[in-house]
Amino acid sequence: MPAPEIHSTASPTSIAATCALYNLTPTEFSELHTQAVAAKAAAYCPYSHFRVGCVLLTHAGAYIPGANVENASYPVTTCAERVAFGRAITSGHRGFKAVAVATDISPPASPCGMCRQCIREFCEPSVPVVMFDGSGGYSVMRLEELLPMSFGPEALGFPSQA
Ligand SMILES: [Zn+2]
Repeated sequence: MPAPEIHSTASPTSIAATCALYNLTPTEFSELHTQAVAAKAAAYCPYSHFRVGCVLLTHAGAYIPGANVENASYPVTTCAERVAFGRAITSGHRGFKAVAVATDISPPASPCGMCRQCIREFCEPSVPVVMFDGSGGYSVMRLEELLPMSFGPEALGFPSQA
């Protein structure tokens, strides 16, 4: 699969096209951008210095942030996406309209494999994942593009949690 196109957060035309394609309003897109970038500031990453911010938008209109939390025992580290989902789920939120992540690198970083599976637990396969880079660019892919032929609750006979 080719790398996704990188758009500019300074281009109203690009943002309008993105919003139309992924059923977001320009305000929602702007909030996803602002809040994902802001969430990076809370990252605890003394070892990698690789800051990641995440924000989840629910169908009810709530925005739930998260940031990566590292640990001296490296595998104990938790990614921003899983911190955000942990906060959201334990606060009673369900039904997610979009996931956004922000890093300081370019091109945009995408969620790791473990986080893609975490997103799969709580979101429709069509949910857009907006990836903001460190220089005003962004890409968007749907979860089903990031995690094809995915495994979810239905495979165990449980209803979808999305
Ligand atoms: Zn991850």
